[in-house]
Order: sequence, then C-alpha cells, then structure tokens
Amino acid sequence: MITVSLDTVPMTIGGVSTVASNGETIDTVNPATGQIIARIPNATVEDVDLAVAKASAAFKLWRRTSPEERAEALLAFATVVEEHAEELSALDVAENGSPIREMRKDAAAAVSQIRYYAGLVLEAKGETIPTTWNRLNYTLLQPYGVVGRIVPFNHPLMFAASKIAAPIAAGNTVIVKPSEYTSLSALRLAELSKGVFPDGVFNVVTGYGNTAGDAMVRHPGIRRMAFTGSAETGRHIQATAASVTLKTITLELGGKNPLVVFSDADIDKAIEAAQRGMNFSWQGQSCGSTSRLIVQQDIYNDFVEALAASVEKMRSGMPDEESTQTGAIVNQLQFDKVSRYLRVGVEDGATVVAGGHVLNEGDFANGYFVRPTVFKNVDPSSRLAQEEVFGPILATMPFTDYDNALSIANGVRFGLTASVFSESLKTTTRFARDVEAGYVWVNEVSRHVAGTGFGGVKDSGIGREEGLEELLSYTQAKNVHINIED
Ligand code: NAD
Repeated sequence: MITVSLDTVPMTIGGVSTVASNGETIDTVNPATGQIIARIPNATVEDVDLAVAKASAAFKLWRRTSPEERAEALLAFATVVEEHAEELSALDVAENGSPIREMRKDAAAAVSQIRYYAGLVLEAKGETIPTTWNRLNYTLLQPYGVVGRIVPFNHPLMFAASKIAAPIAAGNTVIVKPSEYTSLSALRLAELSKGVFPDGVFNVVTGYGNTAGDAMVRHPGIRRMAFTGSAETGRHIQATAASVTLKTITLELGGKNPLVVFSDADIDKAIEAAQRGMNFSWQGQSCGSTSRLIVQQDIYNDFVEALAASVEKMRSGMPDEESTQTGAIVNQLQFDKVSRYLRVGVEDGATVVAGGHVLNEGDFANGYFVRPTVFKNVDPSSRLAQEEVFGPILATMPFTDYDNALSIANGVRFGLTASVFSESLKTTTRFARDVEAGYVWVNEVSRHVAGTGFGGVKDSGIGREEGLEELLSYTQAKNVHINIED
C-alpha cells in the first residue's frame, strides 16, 4: 500500500516551497481505502496574488530567452518526469484510484507531449504581408505573460506536466491549479522542476475551485486562462472572468461521446473498441469516453450481449495492484453521482446487462468501487443518454438507418469525440463529415495522435490542444507596419 507523509505538502511559488498564507490545509483521501494520506495547502486569494506577482516577474526574463533555451529547459523537464514516472504515477494512483498500469501510461504521454512542444519552439512565428513598395508589414507572435491553467482530477500528472509545455515554449510563465482531490503529483512535479526552469516560470497553487481557482479566474494579471473540467464550471469561469476583465479562455470540457456501429462493421473489432473506448480502466472517468454505444438494430442484441460478457470479465481491484483492470471512483461525491445514475437508468426503463452495482465488501469495504456497467435499450432522450456521468456506465441503444444514427449521435449538448465502425467508405466518410464532434475516429477509438488538435464543439469546449494550434494559442499577433521611404 502506498503511503505518503501526513505533513503538509508545500506549493511551489516563485521557486519557493510555501504553505497557504493562513496555514489552512485540505485533507487528501485515498479513494480505494478511505484513508487520509496527505494534506495540501488551501491557497488563499493572497497566495494567488503572490503567484501572479512571481510569475509576472519571471516573465520579464523568460520572454527574453531564446527559443532554443526554452526547448532545452522543456527537454530537461521531460527527462525529470521520465526519471520520476514511477513515483509520480504512484501519487496519482493513491489519490485518484485509477490502476497503476493506466497511470504509468499517463506519465509516458506527458513526457512525449513535453518533448513535442520542445521541438515546436521555432514554429511560433509570424508572417510578412505583401504591401506597397516602400513599406514592410509583418507580424510578431508574442506570449501573453502569465497563463493560468486549471485542471481536473482524472489525469492529474498528465495534465499538470503536459499542459504547461505549450505556454512555456511560447515564452509565457504558468500557474497550475490542480484538482483539490488530486494535487500531490503536481506539487511533487513543481518541486522536481526547481532548477530546471528559472524560479517563477512554473508555479503550482492548490486549493478549492471556488477560492484559489476563482482568484485565478478574476485576477487581472492573468490574461490567458486554459481550463480543463466540467461544462458547468467552464461556463461559470467564462462568466466570472468577463465580470472582471477581458481574458482569452480556452475550454476543454465534458462529453457524451457516441460510438456508432453499422451492421457491416468488423464486429469483433467494434466490440473490443466499445469496451476500450468507455475507459472502464479509468472507471469511465475520461472526457473522451464513448459513453453512448449506438448499434444498428439487426446486430444490436448479439453485439450488446457479447460486449456485456466481456465487460463482466474485467477485474476490479486495489489500484496499486498490477493485475487490477478497474479501480476506484475518485471521491464520495462522484461515487454518489455514479450510484445515482445506476438507479436513474433503471427508473428510465433501461436494463442492466453487465455490472449495475457497487462493491462494498472485503477489500472494497472502505473505498468507492462501482462495477463496470452496461445498460441496454436506453432511450436516447433519457437522462442516462443525455447527461455526462463521468463514471463506468455505458448507455447502449439501437438505431435503424444512417439518418437515425446521426440524429441520435448529434442529439446531445456535447460534441467532444465520436467513433464510427463500418466497412463502407461512403458511410464512414459521410459520418465523419456530419457528426458534431471535435475529433472523429473511423474503425478506431480513443487514440490521441501526436501532433493533432484535440477539443470539442458545442458545450464540449472552445479551442484545440495537443497540436500546433495549442502552441499558437499562447501567443498574440502584433502587426508591425514600417515606412522605408528615403
Ligand atoms: P470540475 O469542473 O469540477 O473541476 C475542474 C477544476 O476546476 C478543478 O481544479 C476545480 O478545483 C476547478 N474549479 C471548480 N470550480 C471552479 C471555479 N468556480 N472557478 C475556478 N476553478 C474551479 O471538473 P472535475 O470533476 O475535476 O473533472 C471532470 C470533468 O472534466 C468532466 O466533465 C470531464 O469531461 C472534464 N474533462 C475534460 C477534458 C477535455 O480534454 N475535454 C479532459 C479531462 C476532463
């Protein structure tokens, strides 16, 4: 069992380890055991002010570094993450309940994202615009200054580590606020980054969303915010920021993503994808989870039966055990929400064909465990089909023809990802064109492809991350017009 010191784990602000200005802390709990494992600072408005002041001071020097120097620093940071991957992953496992074998992949993904942006530093370039003979016109892409990044609980290390790479590559300094439930890996990361970046380039502030997070959103010294989290919080952040000042805000929000299977699909491949796409291995706690499975009527019963049989075989277990395939839900709040949706599905007339219950005996007695669950015959307009559960519950439903599949797929307020399975090029190409989503997989699911932009439409977000567009989104264009007449 992983143990973490019960002393308060400090924040790193301006390169200095610091606790909250009023000394307050938040207990952090292992969701698999219910044990308090550490205390984190409950940052105040004053702590956020300090972080902005330190990050602003650091920006004055950081913006003057060469792109190559910034790339070198990012590469060194990637190596630090790689060398401490096991330790950092273990902190995530202890706090967010996902299995160790999955959290190791997060560390590897973070390392590769950081290296990707280190390689892109020279791409933050402007353009020259043709104009009259004795004039020169060009653009400079300049950093914003202090960037605020607020991240959620589901991939704590991956988000804290990889989401600072693009802003830092572009010459900004960053303040990260991790989820109050999963701050330990970000805190450790900032500690490890001392000496890798100049003091104040990478700061971590911990605390509640409505205090520390809110102070960042309101702070006029942060002109660029990037938020990853729920649609409700995203909208709240936009409104709050606008009530104080103008900010550029990008939003990576929730999803209720469709996976559509036509009857001419490779069925075995589609069944495997439906299980993998649901991310039961993170207890369904992923924005990209294909939580609506929409299958053509004539193969629906057999398909769902085979899928349910496979899902039933998944091994629930303690997150720090290597053989565990599905772990614990992150906290009591999420556990109660997921449990409620187990009831909602039944109330709304759907049938449980796999899972459908919590685990609360033996090893599982003190943790938040829910068996991977598949519902059959979910009404597309019902709550289970419309609302993001962010838990291990897959809603399945049949469709008749292409138009019906598309109307179900697009019939939600979200539009993050979509996946389609068919052997017909015409069907899949039309679907990719017509579906309302920011990322579409054809005969494939879940894969984040290096260099491609990820993000949503509709209530799933604004902006694209993980590609060149993310780097450029941390710059502002300045146009320069020069008179070169004699
Ligand atoms: P959340 O919105 O509750 O919290 C996310 C972060 O926002 C946390 O750090 C929290 O402290 C902070 N926060 C909360 N209220 C705030 C406020 N008023 N002002 C400022 N900050 C505030 O989300 P969560 O429960 O941690 O994460 C789950 C959600 O994140 C799901 O909806 C999921 O789909 C989404 N998500 C999206 C992506 C993506 O890339 N699109 C990736 C991962 C998770």
